[in-house]
Amino acid sequence: MNEHDSERISGLLEADGLVPAVSEEEADVIVLNTCCIRENADNRLYGALGNLKTLKAEKPDLQIAVAGCLAQKDRELIQKRAKHVDVVFGTHNVQNAVKLLKKSQSQGPIIEILEEIVEEDNQAFPSALPVRREVDHRAWVTIQIGCDNTCTYCIVPSVRGREISRPFGQLLNEVRNFADQGVTEITLLGQNVNSYGRDLTKKLKSDDPCETDVFQVGDLWLEADRRKIKPLFADLLKSVGLIEGIERVRFISPHPKDLTLEIVAAMSETKSVCEHLHLPLQSGSDSILSAMHRGYSSERFLHKLKQARSGIKDLAVTTDLIVGFPGESEKDFDETLQVAAEAQFDAAYTYIFSSRPGTKAAEMESEFVDHVTAVRRYETLRNVVTRSSLLKHKERVGRVEEVLVEGRSKKGTDLIKTRTRQNKILHLKFEESLRAGTYARVQVTEAPSHYLLGELLEIVATPKHRKRIPVMAEQSV
Ligand code: SF4
Repeated sequence: MNEHDSERISGLLEADGLVPAVSEEEADVIVLNTCCIRENADNRLYGALGNLKTLKAEKPDLQIAVAGCLAQKDRELIQKRAKHVDVVFGTHNVQNAVKLLKKSQSQGPIIEILEEIVEEDNQAFPSALPVRREVDHRAWVTIQIGCDNTCTYCIVPSVRGREISRPFGQLLNEVRNFADQGVTEITLLGQNVNSYGRDLTKKLKSDDPCETDVFQVGDLWLEADRRKIKPLFADLLKSVGLIEGIERVRFISPHPKDLTLEIVAAMSETKSVCEHLHLPLQSGSDSILSAMHRGYSSERFLHKLKQARSGIKDLAVTTDLIVGFPGESEKDFDETLQVAAEAQFDAAYTYIFSSRPGTKAAEMESEFVDHVTAVRRYETLRNVVTRSSLLKHKERVGRVEEVLVEGRSKKGTDLIKTRTRQNKILHLKFEESLRAGTYARVQVTEAPSHYLLGELLEIVATPKHRKRIPVMAEQSV
């Protein structure tokens, strides 16, 4: 979400006539877009701002802005600690970036943080702004912002606000625009994508469907379940999947408690929806899951996982896991190991708990797990998940996969990086014809734990993109 916001800030600046600078020294405007989900965001921000202080002294016209969720959280503190910052703006007013920078030229430093987005203002959704994408064949589409859940370790609800879904018709228009420009892979973005649309159906009360209703909630819901409050994510997957030119649809992140059979069926029935599910487990201990406010037990998680695997052929499942959450005992940790082993994930992002000021978990200081224990648990868990990744990868050796070429591999200049439908990285021998955006069929030849190696069988489709954007998504009905 944060990277997508950065694309939008770049897009807005370009639309205003700026061009990308090759270095900080040559820039007229520098925007630091922060994300406080990551550990040490504040240290890194103040480090970067410290380095920019000298530059600003040498070049007084240089404008420095700090954006993103750390700006949302720390506000005045940023300008107090770094007086050379011209503008501080938050996550709900990305659309004002250019206006604020211009205003600060005449009025001096500005802080503008909005507590919530103005719902009627479609530009408050990052996807409704101009964009500067780094890749031509792939695009992100924000389907909702904010989160209504209350996971006790997470800062998102307080910095991104409550959950608000974008109108159904607006999303379809945006994806159609992307398809017209040659984009073939779409990633739907949200903090809890599978609750998308619940707020939209809640608001709809009229008995007679009209065009505005269709734009808000889509025709599938109106046909089937008029006036019933429910999420629309399954409808969205089906409708996006029908848009001509879109070959791959991905989404991040779903919440396990909201993964329904309807969504599993939509994934399985919609050819362009990739066979990959990122389902964050976080812990295998029921008492820790309850302390985290996750809303499911380990048994429930495994049940949902089983439903997804039996409903979607060749599904790859990845997850997030946290070790050392306050109060985590050896027994809790053993339960996480057991559930992780049973779940047989294709890959897992594992983290050591780190406290985020402002969250409930940060107040549980007396129960913090000591660092040495947390590191030991982290390493033990890594071994378990690496073992299952390796097994899952080995199963793919000899198979024929469809891959999308991403570009040169960092593993070596003689390799090309591609991605399978299951979201696995697969490296191929370099060939001039394999431009980014090309679809190809390959045979998997080797399988280390973090990527696959393969041989090209045939090129299926060449890139369709014609030009770089910027795009303006449809603003209103
Ligand atoms: S679902 Fe939980 S972890 Fe995810 S954004 Fe919402 S509060 Fe944070």
